[in-house]
Amino acid sequence: MEIAPHVHWLDTGGSNVYLIVEPPHIVLVDTGMPRQQEKIFQLLHDLGHQPADLTHILVTHADMDHVGSLAALHNASGAQIQAGAAAAQLIDRGKSPKHMPVIVQWLLDTFVRYGAVAKEKIAIFEDGDTLPFLNGLQVLATPGHTLDHFSFFSPMAGVLFAGDALNTRDGRINLTPPRITADKTAARQSGIRLLALSPAVIACGHGTPSTNHTADELMHVFNTLRQE
Ligand SMILES: [Zn+2]
Repeated sequence: MEIAPHVHWLDTGGSNVYLIVEPPHIVLVDTGMPRQQEKIFQLLHDLGHQPADLTHILVTHADMDHVGSLAALHNASGAQIQAGAAAAQLIDRGKSPKHMPVIVQWLLDTFVRYGAVAKEKIAIFEDGDTLPFLNGLQVLATPGHTLDHFSFFSPMAGVLFAGDALNTRDGRINLTPPRITADKTAARQSGIRLLALSPAVIACGHGTPSTNHTADELMHVFNTLRQE
């Protein structure tokens, strides 16, 4: 579904990915769980493109539900992967950042791997970078849910790719639940930073993208986070 001009949303089954279609650039934001690549290629196909037309894959953070299909998509398309330095280190080993309750974290660390990609194949972005998509896509460090987390914002398009820094899982704009948050203070600060941008569209990692919120609603969430 097109949620803003050139921006398409796909729910891969609990986690969202986004395609920015601006030929010659076609950019995927996040990749879903492992084995989701066919769904993403089907969306590309429906939009009149092939796997090889995918030029870039942006990573918000190295949780498996965001980078699970990264290796498969990269191998099939040759797309340039772009990620933060900490995420790239994790992707290199097929590991996820620590932010779960102790037992769950131990199970994940011990048993769960996704397809790794050598860090030499990943271009590193930093806070303050601007990527040449959607008339300038700003790279924002937004640690909290995980410490390797980044978000992307286009002021011209009004679109925020929030990853897991914000979500609409329970039908309203909110932070990711505290029990799966690595640093709660940082998560609040990151949420405040993102809401202060007044995004017209919040393309989040989980839940329906928010496209029709009012300024008052954003301000309410903003003030709630500031007062916590
Ligand atoms: Zn996550």
